[in-house]
Amino acid sequence: MADRHGLSPQRGEAERLRIGVLASQGDFGAHAEMLRSLGAEPIEVRTAEELSGLDGLIIPGGESTTITKAIERDGLEPAIRAHADSGLPILGTCAGMIVCDREHLGLVDAAARRNAFGRQIASFEVELKVGGIGPDPMRAVFIRAPWIDEHGAEVEVLASVDDRPVVVRQGQIVLCAFHPELTDDSRLHALLMAMATAARNRAAEVRGISSRG
Ligand code: GLN
Repeated sequence: MADRHGLSPQRGEAERLRIGVLASQGDFGAHAEMLRSLGAEPIEVRTAEELSGLDGLIIPGGESTTITKAIERDGLEPAIRAHADSGLPILGTCAGMIVCDREHLGLVDAAARRNAFGRQIASFEVELKVGGIGPDPMRAVFIRAPWIDEHGAEVEVLASVDDRPVVVRQGQIVLCAFHPELTDDSRLHALLMAMATAARNRAAEVRGISSRG
């Protein structure tokens, strides 16, 4: 069904959402699969050029030090920042949560603690209610996951484990401590795509206004 801007998925290839998945390191393939299953076109991103013309971006789990170094090495930071500054959405998962925090790219006013759940319970699964994706809990797979230690007033907490924020949102950026690509629950990917569609609609409206003078 078309919305008032006519951006329904049925309108053909040209209008499929193009969602980048940072592919420097980590489990980008599973994210790409999930995006494809939802009808988006996943784009593996390794260069600054590949960041242009995207509707949204996923920074996946992996090793935050390695991903941070790769972003530096490949000169991706200005392009990621430009993406965020133009109001396009980003989903950072696990290591991706760390990469976006204050100490790293600084895209979200929050401090993530690496390997926060400790060695004993390094990996675990829980049923987690996540704000903004509906009432049903999500099966959340945590693997040496971070949590948010501290955050500013603009950061909204969407889910917590033992009172530790594990899904947060600031504007168009959602950070998630677990691995949503490892189950068949695609609601966080769908949320990113809904945010991307909204960003497209806003851009189309602005174009409409400027062409009407
Ligand atoms: N522990 C990893 C880090 O600190 C993150 C783990 C993950 O992404 N699954 O980078």
